[in-house]
Amino acid sequence: MSQILLPSNATAFEMALYGRETCGWSPLPCHLPGVENSGGVRTTFSGKRPIICYMQYRAHLPSLSQLREWQETFTTDAGEPNWVCITGHSTTGTALYVIDTDTPELSQWLQSCHTTTVRTGRPGGGWHTWFTGPAGLYRTKPALELPDNSLVRFQGVEGIIVLPRSLHASGTRYMFVDGLGPDVLKPVPPWLTTCLQSNIEAEQHKTASEGKFPGSTGGRDCINQIWESKRGKGWRHKQLYVLSQELWNARNKDSFVEWALRQVNQRFDEPLDEGAIMDCMKRGWEKTRPDNKYGPLGCVTAVRDYLPWLDCSACPHRRDMLKSGFDTARAHGLGPNEQSVLMLVTTHGYKSDNATAEACHMDRATVKNAREKLQALGLWPLPLPPTLKLP
Ligand SMILES: [Zn+2]
Repeated sequence: MSQILLPSNATAFEMALYGRETCGWSPLPCHLPGVENSGGVRTTFSGKRPIICYMQYRAHLPSLSQLREWQETFTTDAGEPNWVCITGHSTTGTALYVIDTDTPELSQWLQSCHTTTVRTGRPGGGWHTWFTGPAGLYRTKPALELPDNSLVRFQGVEGIIVLPRSLHASGTRYMFVDGLGPDVLKPVPPWLTTCLQSNIEAEQHKTASEGKFPGSTGGRDCINQIWESKRGKGWRHKQLYVLSQELWNARNKDSFVEWALRQVNQRFDEPLDEGAIMDCMKRGWEKTRPDNKYGPLGCVTAVRDYLPWLDCSACPHRRDMLKSGFDTARAHGLGPNEQSVLMLVTTHGYKSDNATAEACHMDRATVKNAREKLQALGLWPLPLPPTLKLP
């Protein structure tokens, strides 16, 4: 890889060249924000729309001369064009992934990452938090909920992201936050990978749950229990309501959720009528919508408030585990390596330093140091296997 020095006041085009040369990311020129009048047709641009057709540049980099030609062609009296980079793809194998936040303050979880961060020009505040990860792995998600319940967007495979120094529709330029330029870019942290859906995992889930329930369970055994339940009267509405939310949470399609609810309903001695099924579906959906601030039912609330006979001991409670891990890390002022290892081991368990190193994108020695520090502080979340000795 050739290195290009990036001056602190680099232009969007210089940032585009840097992304291409140093990281293998495809940059694309974009319309400047504003209104363009062409042949009597007025078009409003947000400043984020590529001027050219770009599907081919997910797999191939545009050449340097191509980039210079675009820069020249699309520079007008209004100024140089905006530039974006394609996310989730890279010719080096390490792609750009970005969390897009539209709030005045950045979530504490994201702040704790100390990775490359761009302040967007959005009035009221906006942030792009940059990460690297294996190319083609994480999908773009228009609504992603972080463990602290903040709602963000995730630009992954098949997404694009505006580069710093481009012009925002507000008239302000996108800028790197001081001290958080491209030189501090970090891999996707383990706590975030547990919130994301990988292209590979989505396939594995399908096969893993094929035995019992014919859809995706996201690892929740309670879905199997409701599916096989013999309980009828008194529990019918609650079962359908809980099931609909859990199925949407586990990313099943609408038509499938409807089908599954009807299947369960038919097994009741006295099935509910059409209106009641639709009501359970509708209420379940309202609660699962990304903009519902109370969030969907988790296993804890489903058992406590609705179906006390469910056994959720085998279900993943990742949100709770992540929260407690994060609080512990903050309380003890742990560094990023200890934090990453703690979170990963809390949510995924521990096999070996090697396996953890691979999952955390760290080397084995770093994991070993972090593990020993956590163990010395009494924060290691697992009982120690006999082969593992305290330092
Ligand atoms: Zn459960």
